[in-house]
Amino acid sequence: MTPSELAAAGAFITEQTDEIIDLISQIVAIESPSGDLQGSHAVVKLLRERARALSSVSSIEVIASPNYGEHLLIRAFPNQAADIPSTLLLGHTDTVYPRGTVNSSKPLRADGDKLYGPGIFDMKGACVLALEVLNCLTSLDIGPPRPVTVLLTCDEESGSTTGRMLVEREARLAAQVLVLEPPDCGGRVKTSRKGVGLWTVEAHGIASHAGLDPEAGASAILELARQTQRLHSLSDASRGTNFNVGVVRGGTRSNVVAEKAAMEVDVRFTTAAEANLVEKLMNTLQPFDERVRLTTSGGINRGPLERTAGVVKLFHHAQSIAAQLGWQLEERSVGGASDGNFVAALDVPVLDGLGIDGDGAHAAHEHILINDIARRGALLTGLIATL
Ligand SMILES: [Zn+2]
Repeated sequence: MTPSELAAAGAFITEQTDEIIDLISQIVAIESPSGDLQGSHAVVKLLRERARALSSVSSIEVIASPNYGEHLLIRAFPNQAADIPSTLLLGHTDTVYPRGTVNSSKPLRADGDKLYGPGIFDMKGACVLALEVLNCLTSLDIGPPRPVTVLLTCDEESGSTTGRMLVEREARLAAQVLVLEPPDCGGRVKTSRKGVGLWTVEAHGIASHAGLDPEAGASAILELARQTQRLHSLSDASRGTNFNVGVVRGGTRSNVVAEKAAMEVDVRFTTAAEANLVEKLMNTLQPFDERVRLTTSGGINRGPLERTAGVVKLFHHAQSIAAQLGWQLEERSVGGASDGNFVAALDVPVLDGLGIDGDGAHAAHEHILINDIARRGALLTGLIATL
């Protein structure tokens, strides 16, 4: 792709900015917290209508997810050779805000270059941008070398219970995956994300009277207190590993040695090797008091998105396109996980944080920057056209 074609992409999207903002605003106004079937249906309907107007789109599939809403799968630029791996654009249409938020605490509003609204940064703005990038490629007659797939799931914010399978299926058919999650501050893409494991540990002790016969008891609470101390002491910031016992429940009355207690543990790690060590440790926890029995359930929820050679290559490519557009694209490692983590686990090159710049994901000041729409759109257009 020549620098003049890239500049033309930027100019084209700049011209479209009012229409793009209009569609983003409509989609933000329809609230779609994870699990809101009506909201999900209405958002998907608008996006589907927009996709239907694009001549490069060859198929639009709405996949119902009974308790969450609708996933949207759009295929464009079909290639004659059916086995050519695609470029997959990945996003989600659900938000974390309960219905009513847009009419009360977070109304849609523009303030200078900032456009505010619930879920606009994470990531309804980027869902719209994905389709406008297809429009840009079509209108400027730029034929990408690979088929392009856009997958927008409806349950990412609640852990991707049903979207995960689709993400993994489409990632396996892709040469690379561009994740449209919000960028880090300053528009930086995310080249590594920690993985997360979630466990529940139950302690089964022996109840006794705390006054009459305390020695006969084996306290489940004491056992978990010791386990908590041990696990927290294994956190190691230099390796990026962190144990957090975030919830503890247990006991019945203050004068009874507690027979039962349970705790919920969140563990973060940066490499697959570390994830294996953590998993082994959590599954073989030994009690301090041998009269107490421990049972553990749970496991790795999302593996880490590691900064592999494939990720770095994608980042450098994106950086060179951004440089042609006159800005310096930077990268960042973050602790939070996304559906990009599922892609990374399959060893498919992935670049995350390619959404529209802004700030305040899941927060009161959530917004996007209007002047990033065209440059981010041009970057995505350049990536799709050259990968
Ligand atoms: Zn998100």
